[in-house]
Amino acid sequence: MDKKVMRNISYGLFILTAKDGDKLNGCVINTLQQVTTSPNRATIAVSKENYTHDMIIETGQFNVSILSEKAGFDTFKHFGFQSGREIDKFDDYPMELSENGIPYITKGANGFISCSVIQSIDLGSHTLFIADVTDGKVLSDDPSTTYEYYHKHIKEAPDAKASGWVCKICGYVYSGDVLPEDYICPLCKHPASDFEKL
Ligand code: FE
Repeated sequence: MDKKVMRNISYGLFILTAKDGDKLNGCVINTLQQVTTSPNRATIAVSKENYTHDMIIETGQFNVSILSEKAGFDTFKHFGFQSGREIDKFDDYPMELSENGIPYITKGANGFISCSVIQSIDLGSHTLFIADVTDGKVLSDDPSTTYEYYHKHIKEAPDAKASGWVCKICGYVYSGDVLPEDYICPLCKHPASDFEKL
């Protein structure tokens, strides 16, 4: 099989957010799909490594902010390259709370939806959440970004002086001479085999 064919599948990019008690958090996903219109239902697949995943397991509630072509690389770094287990990603990030009390981002997003989980399916590395779409709002007319647009126009080329390994999928740079064999990209969750030496 030519595994490269999988990269020809088109995806959007999104910030998935959740709230558990006082804790707010968010991460980058590319797996939102509207699956039925009546009732209005969506699915997301979320890596179990993401703190947001555990919050949705606990609460069954989440928002998805739809990233536009205006989203900068800083948004991807902020939500994708660090963990909410260590820092508060909403300490100083432009957001508002929707009616469910969960944040959505107001910079680089052209809309958001609020969702309530009706079923969860364990996929091993990820959980597939099937959810009712309960609320939502258009925030701007900017076109939605795609994974391809991100690669061509948003992702920053690695610094020429940087050393380490770069993820060929999303551009995340791992600094260090030896990339652990079981390393997983913190942004796109692809394995060490998708990294190349700088
Ligand atoms: Fe990556």
